[in-house]
Amino acid sequence: MKLAIFDLDDTLIDFAATREAAYSCLSAHLDAERVDSAGFITACRAIDRHVFALFERGTITRDQYRLRRFSEPLASIGVSPQPDLIARLNQLFMDCVNDRPLLYEDALPVLARLRNQGVNTAILTNGPSDGQRRKLGATGLTAAVDHVAIGEETGFSKPSPRAYHAIIEHFALQPAEALMVGDSPELDYDGALQAGLQALLLDRDARHAGGTRRSIRSLAHVMGTAK
Ligand SMILES: [Mg+2]
Repeated sequence: MKLAIFDLDDTLIDFAATREAAYSCLSAHLDAERVDSAGFITACRAIDRHVFALFERGTITRDQYRLRRFSEPLASIGVSPQPDLIARLNQLFMDCVNDRPLLYEDALPVLARLRNQGVNTAILTNGPSDGQRRKLGATGLTAAVDHVAIGEETGFSKPSPRAYHAIIEHFALQPAEALMVGDSPELDYDGALQAGLQALLLDRDARHAGGTRRSIRSLAHVMGTAK
């Protein structure tokens, strides 16, 4: 292996915990405005994955995603989704998520060990460019890897093989010399295999146990598993 590529959210960054911390920021704000914050957060949890998937597939724009992830939960609890309230919630949410992201404890150590062994490192993420750049800077990940590829900047998002091949070409390698590590079976694992790379599915809570994909429970296991 000459190159290890990592997904960002829920692979290096504990995005679930980061998002919950950001929801707490929103709760405090909504409580002060006498809005049912518990109902709102519950609706956000239910709606966000679906709306984000639409953004990932290019069905809606980034701005439409940011509008709908909060307007639909507000509407579902009977609160008129006023543009200024949506804008305030987005500002609070993004400041919290992007400037105070929570890294998994195994993230920086595995990147350092790969570097020590002469393996190139990269991050490949589909998230919105401005937010992902802030997260990468705030966590120190920008300096911890050799290359960052963001779908919105390159024009190629996972699972498109073009997203993978653009990184391979950056390092002038062959696909089989690279390993992709990520938490999404479809975007990270299947996408990488289809592009000719090796792949490891990061399955921290064993939700995919018993499946046929090569999986690891911790990034510490990247070293022992990769060829
Ligand atoms: Mg992920």
